[in-house]
Amino acid sequence: MSERMLTFTTVPRTTPQKRDVAVRNADFHEIYAEFIDEKAAQQASRCSQCGVPFCQTHCPLHNNIPDWLRMTAEGRLEEAYEISQATNSMPEVCGRICPQDRLCEGNCVIEQSGHGTVTIGAVEKYLTDKAWELGWVKPLAPGPSRGKSVGVIGAGPAGLAAAERLAEAGYTVTIYDRHDRPGGLMIYGIPSFKLEKPVVERRTSRLAEGGIEFRQGFEVGRDASLPQLRERHDAILIASGVYKSRDLICPGAGSAGVVAALDSLTSSNRIGLGDSVPAFDSGALNASGKDVVVVGGGDTAMDCVRTAVRQGAASVTCLYRRDRDNMPGSAREVAHAEEEGVVFEWLAAPRSILGDAACISGVRAARMRLGPPDASGRQAPVEVEGGDFDLPAQMVIKALGFDPEDMPALFDESALTVSRWGTVKTDFRTMMTSLPGVFAAGDIVRGASLVVWAIRDGRDAADAIDRYLAEAPALMAAE
Ligand SMILES: Cc1cc2nc3c(=O)[nH]c(=O)nc-3n(C[C@H](O)[C@H](O)[C@H](O)COP(=O)(O)OP(=O)(O)OC[C@H]3O[C@@H](n4cnc5c(N)ncnc54)[C@H](O)[C@@H]3O)c2cc1C
Ligand code: SF4
Repeated sequence: MSERMLTFTTVPRTTPQKRDVAVRNADFHEIYAEFIDEKAAQQASRCSQCGVPFCQTHCPLHNNIPDWLRMTAEGRLEEAYEISQATNSMPEVCGRICPQDRLCEGNCVIEQSGHGTVTIGAVEKYLTDKAWELGWVKPLAPGPSRGKSVGVIGAGPAGLAAAERLAEAGYTVTIYDRHDRPGGLMIYGIPSFKLEKPVVERRTSRLAEGGIEFRQGFEVGRDASLPQLRERHDAILIASGVYKSRDLICPGAGSAGVVAALDSLTSSNRIGLGDSVPAFDSGALNASGKDVVVVGGGDTAMDCVRTAVRQGAASVTCLYRRDRDNMPGSAREVAHAEEEGVVFEWLAAPRSILGDAACISGVRAARMRLGPPDASGRQAPVEVEGGDFDLPAQMVIKALGFDPEDMPALFDESALTVSRWGTVKTDFRTMMTSLPGVFAAGDIVRGASLVVWAIRDGRDAADAIDRYLAEAPALMAAE
């Protein structure tokens, strides 16, 4: 083993420098600076090169983390990059936005021994950003033609990862997406202080330059039904994500000033991309100067509170009905939000929106406590009698999560089977839906999840489609 490794007893854990709060609150740029070369090598050298690397097991892509950390520590950066990209279609995206505290880094052995985890995500981001800068990221090389075409519905991480792999295998790939830009939630959902948009755009441009056809502004269900798309292609992948926002149910929830999380985040991202957004200009989706209350405790809520801070809100409060230990959002994101001035009202749920339908003035909240576990095993929030309190608010953002749309109705295909939650059902071995030759991947199968899982599913679905199409002539001959 290299002498450079196992330095965790002498080299303390450090992340790339975080920008000063006052500076980062005033713009939408990513909050971490880049590792300098020496620091990346030093941090990578802390890896203990475990025989059974739990980081790798807990990475959804099973990235070969110990190997690329060792190469980085030894200064063999191009080799490190090659290993890292062999299992991951967008390592620089995952390095930025994976909740590493719950995945690779949360299971790092030196973290368990109290030395602080290896900064795996930051090294992964560093390596691939370096690879782009130095030209190691090669153009997409389509494989020898198989004479077959695949239609992919959705240009999010699941669809993009699948499309790349299918093109490399020699299939003609067309991606249909209802938005005007590719990237899915990476472009219009996730704010640029977590993931700057040129990082996504250089990935999608590489795919387009490699021959993948992007049909943006094409909504399946409006511009073609699923049966019509099936006639055009030999196989279809549904990777359309989940977009039905869960609603706030309390008096006043329909008032002007109560807005959906994704409307707020999309308009903010569009402004950053240079688009004109009338609802932002009118103030409807702009938090500037307002007291803002965000309802919810997941990562979407964290993105909303931090976006409101950057838009110049007068105050930003997050209302969550459970406590800090039981919130679904990443602890790291909560810490960033607190540093940036967000106030958390734990154990609080909205009872009513105050003001009138045209102009809200606040939120009346009920104080909660945690009661016995419910059917899901989590402690259920129970109201504390007499605990109501009021918060001023001229804008309330609903960040309560997402469900799938009615897919059979939307796609005009009643034979498409969905689960009782509305997610598209697939065979776990073949990834095929109830319709022959139609596959599904990403959030539309799992429910709202993570980019890294969407990439994993997209890659697996591409392999499953390849197997299906390779066997298809034999199947037809046998009929
Ligand atoms: C605000 C927010 C913040 C998040 N932050 C993180 C994070 O920090 N880290 C992380 O790992 N994950 C995060 N996620 C989750 C992550 O973005 C998703 O899990 C991931 O993008 C799912 O990928 P996907 O390809 O399945 O779907 P999506 O990314 O949703 O892409 C689906 C695509 O399908 C298109 N589409 C939908 N319906 C149709 C139709 N009928 N016709 C044509 N096209 C259609 C959509 O326009 C979209 O482009 C976040 C999610 C949100 C909402
Ligand atoms: S893809 Fe995500 S979980 Fe896997 S090593 Fe990278 S940051 Fe960790």
